[in-house]
Amino acid sequence: MGPVATGVRTGDRVALLVHGSHDYLDVVLRLLTAGAFPVPLDPRLTPTERARILAGIDPTLVVEDEQALAELASGLPDAGLPRGRPLHCTSGTTGTPKGVWSGLLDEAAARALVAEERDLWGFTADDVNLVLSPLYHSAPLRFAMGTMLAGGRVVIPGPFEPAAVTAAIARERPTTMFCVPTHLQRLFAHWEEVGVPDLTSFRLVAHAGAPCPTDVKRRLVELFPAGSTWEFYGSTEGQFTACRSEEWEQRPGTVGRARPGRILTADPDGTLWCVVPDHARFTYYGDPEKTAAAWRETPLGPAFTVGDHGRIDADGYVYLDGRREDLIISGGVNVYPAEVEQVLGECPGVADVAVYGVPDPDWGQRVCAAVVGEVDEDALASYARERLAPPKRPKTYVFRDSLPRTITGKVRRTELAGPVTPRGA
Ligand code: ATP
Repeated sequence: MGPVATGVRTGDRVALLVHGSHDYLDVVLRLLTAGAFPVPLDPRLTPTERARILAGIDPTLVVEDEQALAELASGLPDAGLPRGRPLHCTSGTTGTPKGVWSGLLDEAAARALVAEERDLWGFTADDVNLVLSPLYHSAPLRFAMGTMLAGGRVVIPGPFEPAAVTAAIARERPTTMFCVPTHLQRLFAHWEEVGVPDLTSFRLVAHAGAPCPTDVKRRLVELFPAGSTWEFYGSTEGQFTACRSEEWEQRPGTVGRARPGRILTADPDGTLWCVVPDHARFTYYGDPEKTAAAWRETPLGPAFTVGDHGRIDADGYVYLDGRREDLIISGGVNVYPAEVEQVLGECPGVADVAVYGVPDPDWGQRVCAAVVGEVDEDALASYARERLAPPKRPKTYVFRDSLPRTITGKVRRTELAGPVTPRGA
């Protein structure tokens, strides 16, 4: 393809620093059809973060407002078959965001990708997808694009706000919605005050991105139509599992089994690997070393890891322990924050909890817990004593008003390990 009216050429990267809108979705699909790559970025990045990320991506064009977006759409060919995937950046929970790059797909691979996304969630022309998360994250964009490519409708009420989402549910009768656990917590709290809207239009509500507290999951199943609620485990690099809530009820704590077309394996140290078809290959943009460390060839096909640890039971159900970066090694014993958080999260009075390690001269690392709620240290310590082996019991408890979280609901542990704001400050 030569240059189109906008000057965008095949292989070019176009940074989108605007909030998700219908024009945004249109531009993403048109760029992909033209063989160029949209790079969706958070418009609230600080100038320093933005400069660092843009330098790594080297875009031909940076779009910063809705008008420029509309002009770009008019200069690009109509949306047809996407010839690649957007270059998405990871959230940067564990460090600098990484650009996940698939490159141009040949026609067969592009068709396979579109079919795979459509078939996974069964998108049809009758679907109405309600968008809760910013579209610069991969999962909400995949849901919205999948719906549009199937001929369905996408509803974007704007930056997440429980009242606006509740109104959109009543007005638009959505059939699908992707969310993170934090969205559900905030919606349920709002519905306690204003009442639960009519949710019978939903056929698919999927959550992912961070562990979902048990009480939130139970409320989700209670409120939404039977059979409509799902969890999946995935990352910007791909979606690994899918799990009906009914499966979770039989195996609490699981994030499900490998989605169709993927195989999951766990190394003896717990590192999870995902075997994918060729059209799902990616590299980390501009970082061959990180790419090489993430991939390995196996007899089953190419496999990659994003550094999560977990186990897989005899029936193929995956249980996540946490991330390699979050692992605490205390006195030589591996402690996964997620396990300790799950236990402490059930202690009466605890509203939220995050576990992390801090350097310790005796233990190497010491297990610490940041706790939100009406509970004291003695109650927590005795609860932990009854349920956790000694190395897993927090040696320090810090009480806070809230936990620092990313927009995708993940706790910013690096921030917790630094200086803290005491309760009530
Ligand atoms: P970075 O890799 O730059 O630190 P990030 O990993 O936060 O960023 P994402 O791709 O948004 O960026 O997050 C993917 C991670 O989220 C997964 O690797 C996993 O650790 C976590 N995750 C995803 N789904 C679930 C789930 N259902 N339950 C628990 N954790 C999940």
